[in-house]
Amino acid sequence: MSLKVERVQGDRGVESFYLWNVVQGLAVTVRHAVTNLRAPRAVQTTNYPEEKKVMPPGYRGKHRLVPRPDGSPKCTACMMCATVCPARCINIEAGEHPDPTIEKFPVQFDIDLLKCVFCGYCVEACPVDAIRMDSGVYTFAEFNRSDFVAHKEQLLATLSQWAEPR
Ligand code: SF4
Ligand code: SF4
Repeated sequence: MSLKVERVQGDRGVESFYLWNVVQGLAVTVRHAVTNLRAPRAVQTTNYPEEKKVMPPGYRGKHRLVPRPDGSPKCTACMMCATVCPARCINIEAGEHPDPTIEKFPVQFDIDLLKCVFCGYCVEACPVDAIRMDSGVYTFAEFNRSDFVAHKEQLLATLSQWAEPR
């Protein structure tokens, strides 16, 4: 009886070191290492930032304001995007447009990218397709919090200017 108890305690002692799990983990590591050495081109790792992943169509990146042919924002400052935004990170100041056929335009249009949750509601809510998230910029790095606030001029930058992620 006492021998059986000692044996059980001995088995638990070995288990408590998780030796079998360690061996299993090492086997997985070695298997991947050998596979990668045999076929380095099949490695899934991206050498960022030298290499950049190609994002699928529809992936939401940094916002951009769609310009009119004269370069001014297509936005009519209707506030729909700011109203629907769950993060309350869009700040718009509306002004009277000099063209009588256009009611209003954004004197100021800021998006705080640190608050934004990239839900895309602003894009969906816009009645005139004036804001999009197809800029192709997915990586953000700044030194100051204030630099994460994208202003109208930045948001109006053309797609070609946006094309190269920082
Ligand atoms: S993507 Fe969402 S959280 Fe970001 S600005 Fe648009 S509505 Fe607001
Ligand atoms: S919903 Fe569109 S038109 Fe209205 S304020 Fe936003 S970007 Fe401008």
